[in-house]
Amino acid sequence: MEVIKSYSISITAPKELIEEYFKLKKTVLDEVFKHARYSKSGKVHLKFDKNKRKELRDKLLKNWRFAKHYVDSAINSVIGLVKGWISLYNRGKAKSKPEITKKTVYVKTTLFSVKNGKIKITIEPKKRYLEINLTKFNYLPKDYDSIGGLILMENKLIITFKKKAELIKPRDYASFDVNLTNITGFVNRRIVRFDLKELYHIHRVYEEKRKRIQKLAKTKPKTAKRLMEKYSKRERNRATDIMHKITTTIARELASTKCGAILENLKNIKDRILNGSKDLNRKLSKWNCRMFQFMLEYKLKWFGLPVKYVNPANSSKTCPLCSGRLSAYEGRLIMCKNCGLIQDRDVIAVLYLRM
Ligand SMILES: [Zn+2]
Repeated sequence: MEVIKSYSISITAPKELIEEYFKLKKTVLDEVFKHARYSKSGKVHLKFDKNKRKELRDKLLKNWRFAKHYVDSAINSVIGLVKGWISLYNRGKAKSKPEITKKTVYVKTTLFSVKNGKIKITIEPKKRYLEINLTKFNYLPKDYDSIGGLILMENKLIITFKKKAELIKPRDYASFDVNLTNITGFVNRRIVRFDLKELYHIHRVYEEKRKRIQKLAKTKPKTAKRLMEKYSKRERNRATDIMHKITTTIARELASTKCGAILENLKNIKDRILNGSKDLNRKLSKWNCRMFQFMLEYKLKWFGLPVKYVNPANSSKTCPLCSGRLSAYEGRLIMCKNCGLIQDRDVIAVLYLRM
């Protein structure tokens, strides 16, 4: 199977290319949208065949000084955008027309080469290139087979690494349970804990900031919108940073001991830990779980290790040792009346998942 991992690195992109490509995509969108037809039933169809595409391509190339492939990639990405929009629209899920809002350039694999850890992107053929030395970024993977299409932005580059990984038969499975303030794991017969209080704190701080900005929105809507975007981005960055560190640590540990992972099927989550919690806490728990599972799964896949999702329907009611009935004991502790086990509810949950 082929596995992928994406990384973002800071770079400075050629400003003219970013701006010209942005304008190009807007033009392509206008042109492509001229071929959208509304049927009597109100559904949209796109009538944009190969000849129309070639016509548009030739027209756009007349004023294009960068590599020709950028025109192709702009047409492709806009057609993808329009088709995605049409499918939403026809299901009644989109109202306003699609727009080009992001200044991103998709760099097809034919537009760059990789040699000795250096990426060389063609900007203008035989004239101008953007070279990036990947070896300067020590957190990037070195055990990859190839690099997929790149996404170039004003000050960053998103790189997708590809690798052929054979699925390994794991020696054992570790299990993980994600909560609002911690991640509990049962790894190699040991209980491990990762504190999420810092993450929780970050979300609380930004929640306060958002409340203050919402007040500002009445008098200064533009400033409020800008601030909101800025803080949301910062919050997301700090939060994903913490999750990346934890999941990388876990994935490395599991890879070194050839362990797969057992995770809780998220469809079940609301019944168990989210019940009765406040709205923000509910959102944060969900966010923690999704992010943790998403990151851990692709990081484990990179090593060929499997991830299993199970439904722990009775995890808070059944003893993981003797299947006896559990009842609340004190604080977060739970007791089994049958065998006398007294344990923290997160530990019970993670043991139950493993069983
Ligand atoms: Zn028991």
